[in-house]
Amino acid sequence: MARLSVELPAVLAEQVRHDAAIAAPRECCGLIEGLRDGDRFRVTALHPAHNLAMEADRFDIDPRDHLAAAKMARARGNRIIGCYHSHPHGAARPSLRDAAGAEEENFLWLITAGGELAAFVYLGGDFVGADWTMSSA
Ligand SMILES: [Zn+2]
Repeated sequence: MARLSVELPAVLAEQVRHDAAIAAPRECCGLIEGLRDGDRFRVTALHPAHNLAMEADRFDIDPRDHLAAAKMARARGNRIIGCYHSHPHGAARPSLRDAAGAEEENFLWLITAGGELAAFVYLGGDFVGADWTMSSA
C-alpha cells in the first residue's frame, strides 16, 4: 500500500496549534475541509467546532457545526475529509477513546499535543500514520 500523505498549508497547521492553546486545558476540535485523491489528502480549510464533551479529556463535535462545515465545503466543491483535536495532557496520537469513537473510513485525523502535530487516517478499523508536508499556500 502506498504511504498516505497529507498536504497541509502552514497557516492551517498554525491554526490547529492556536485552537489547542485557546481551548486548554480542554480539548479543541474541528473539521477538516479539503480534497482526497487516492492516498493523498489536501487540506484547504479548517472549521473550528464547539466541543460538547463534558469531560476534559475527550471531544464531541457539535453536530450543528458539522452540518454548517459540510455545507460550506460543498459550496466550494470540497468535502469534509477529516477532523482535528488536541490532547492537552496526552501525546500526538489517537487515544483509546479516539479509537472507540472513530467510525468513518478514510477519515483524516490531525492530533496536536505539546506543540507537535501528527496525521492519521482511519482505515480498516485502525489508525494508520500519514506523512504530512507543509505547503506555504
Ligand atoms: Zn483524542
